[in-house]
Amino acid sequence: QVADSLYIVNDYAKKYYEDQLFNTDIGKGVGLSYFKNRGFREATIRKFGLGFAPAKKDALTAKAISEGHKIDTLRDAGLTSKFDQDFFRNRVMFSIHNVSGKVIGFGGRILQKDIKAPKYINTPETEIYNKSKVLYGIYFAKQSIRKEDECILVEGYTDVISLHQAGIENVVASSGTSLTKEQIRLIKRYTPNVKIIYDGDIAGVKAALRGLDLLLEQDLNVKVVTLPEGEDPDSYLQSVGASAFKKYIDEEAKDFILFKTNLLLKEIGNDPVKKTHVIKDIVNSIGLIPDPIKRSIYIKECARLVNVEEQLLVNESNRILAKQV
Ligand code: ATP
Ligand code: MN
Ligand code: MN
Ligand code: MN
Repeated sequence: QVADSLYIVNDYAKKYYEDQLFNTDIGKGVGLSYFKNRGFREATIRKFGLGFAPAKKDALTAKAISEGHKIDTLRDAGLTSKFDQDFFRNRVMFSIHNVSGKVIGFGGRILQKDIKAPKYINTPETEIYNKSKVLYGIYFAKQSIRKEDECILVEGYTDVISLHQAGIENVVASSGTSLTKEQIRLIKRYTPNVKIIYDGDIAGVKAALRGLDLLLEQDLNVKVVTLPEGEDPDSYLQSVGASAFKKYIDEEAKDFILFKTNLLLKEIGNDPVKKTHVIKDIVNSIGLIPDPIKRSIYIKECARLVNVEEQLLVNESNRILAKQV
């Protein structure tokens, strides 16, 4: 089985990167101290399978080969690239686990700001790693998602890890790709309730808006928390502390309709033409909700928020629905 050998070599690589992080001078000096400076405790680092990839061209590849792994398998796993060089070099490493806890790939972060290299690189698509199907952290989150009956959705690896360490364990990340149908289906196995906490920047807000419609279409209930400008869940948590962070996300969580309406209306001022567009945009989102009862509740709420006759929005919503079929 090809897949089996990929799981085996990924597990080997995870242990290798961990060993480098904890048991080598360079790994400790550069990698472990990096994670510790970011506030990650040792137990957290071990739980999430964090590691360090040394700078040497073929450090992992050569060792793996010498211990009996096949070059083709290393290549197929995305660990070894052209010319038999390591794909991940001189980066701190984040193991990516599937739902059942097997390592299927990695994210690697550069250590210092570098204009040339991308901040993160990820395992390329392999037979077992398909980025549109992966939710980072799902293995560590799934129990808590069920228990809390809610899934918190963030953007990055470090957001998942920070929140988890602070006791907020029902959290997963889409990790650099926009949310996909497959990822949403995975969440739906555990809960119909999603709370989006994306980065407090334009990219984060745009990603939240994009994700919203997809989530509504799949019949999920969506709340959105907006973070202060320039903060992401990790940075904000580290700056205000766990209990203030929890309080903030409880108090700031807005139902999607309120989030979207406030956001769009804020952008347009008093322009009636623009207001018409905004209302249509919102009604369009509501029209994606499969459940007619939920839909009508949101129409009512929207009419109140934008201050127009409910019947107008019902008509508009019906018009959109008619167009869909
Ligand atoms: P950090 O706190 O370490 O800077 P972050 O998670 O806040 O990381 P963001 O820039 O907010 O980083 O990006 C969110 C996520 O998107 C990352 O965790 C990573 O999974 C992915 N990502 C970021 N930059 C890239 C990139 N250049 N290529 C691929 N994926 C990326
Ligand atoms: Mn960001
Ligand atoms: Mn960050
Ligand atoms: Mn971020």
